[in-house]
Amino acid sequence: MKHFFWTMIYTLLALALCCGCSIQDRPGNADGGQGDGADGQQNVQSADTPWQYVDTAMGTVVQQTVYAPDQETAQAFSAQAMELLWGLEQKEISWRLDTSEVYRANVTSGSEGGFLLSEELAGLLESGLELSRRSEGAFDMTLGSVTRLWNIDEWAAENGAEGFPIPSREELAGALSVCGYEKLRLQREAGDQEEKGQCRLFLPEGMQLDLGAIGKGLGLSELTSMLEGQNAVTGAVISLGGSILTYGSKPDGSIWKVGIIDPFDKSSNIGILSLEGQWCVSTSGDYERYVEVDGVRYHHILDPKTGTPAVSDVRGVTVLLKDGLLSDGLSTACFILGPEKGMALAAEYGAEALFILSDGEVVLSEGMEQYYTAIR
Ligand code: ADP
Ligand code: MG
Repeated sequence: MKHFFWTMIYTLLALALCCGCSIQDRPGNADGGQGDGADGQQNVQSADTPWQYVDTAMGTVVQQTVYAPDQETAQAFSAQAMELLWGLEQKEISWRLDTSEVYRANVTSGSEGGFLLSEELAGLLESGLELSRRSEGAFDMTLGSVTRLWNIDEWAAENGAEGFPIPSREELAGALSVCGYEKLRLQREAGDQEEKGQCRLFLPEGMQLDLGAIGKGLGLSELTSMLEGQNAVTGAVISLGGSILTYGSKPDGSIWKVGIIDPFDKSSNIGILSLEGQWCVSTSGDYERYVEVDGVRYHHILDPKTGTPAVSDVRGVTVLLKDGLLSDGLSTACFILGPEKGMALAAEYGAEALFILSDGEVVLSEGMEQYYTAIR
């Protein structure tokens, strides 16, 4: 178990280097007092240099760049941010941990009484269902039985391709038959003027929720609220794997730079987004988590119509929006939908989108042009 944990940490750190986006704006040099802030370098920390922290949550690496008046404030904020992310994972959205609400809801699949939801999870599921409807089912949180059958995230992180069991047609058909957002039922009791009524979830027999496509985005949304509710931290960039939050400003007034990784060469960026203030940037791609067997790439974004990794002429999609939950959900949906339908969907939500196609072409929404600079 311990070995597994450390393998995970190392793999995740490696993954962080090849996720869809990267923070371009890492401050200067080691003299600036970088690191986890615990090394007693407070004296050499200039007011313009942020503190940086790295940890793990939600199966990925969390990198925080924090601008605060002093180390104590930065460290306290960073610890609070990690508590928030671990809390979300453990209490709300993980399907693996029996402490979470999603886990407990999944256990009731097939039951007549259903499952009484917290207002948080009810709201999350309502937003997710709305996205499913608008994306014509490309985004679907009810794919749990199929994602578990593939188990690609775990194979990609731990085992590599050797011995990777490709599900049979029959297995896939069986798992897929219990999926489908249209079969999930949310029933709200009548509320009053002050409060909405409580919401009950009914999962048909065998159906399992998987909120993997919006978990990190939810984390960014909640971190945004946390940042907005305080004024000690004046600027921050928080990267959760393929999802990045920018907030506030830097003391020198320069803007945030978020790199878009080149799916054809993950060690470099294809372009940069220049952003002012608060934004969420989410990327989904076939190069993030995958297992390659005999030249076929099995990645972790599944087409709900087939239950297999989505076949798309897109390598990666980056969505820019103020709201993290939606930017994350949209990037997954847009990957499956492709540039034409994906652009239309992003526009419905007022989001900007950038598609990197299989032939290397980069397609931008009109509004994205003002933020994007191609590197080559
Ligand atoms: P990442 O988690 O790397 O940021 P995504 O946000 O695109 O990538 O989410 C991928 C995860 O979402 C998968 O690991 C799986 O748990 C889940 N998933 C896969 N396909 C779909 C889909 N069509 N709709 C909703 N969730 C999906
Ligand atoms: Mg997503």
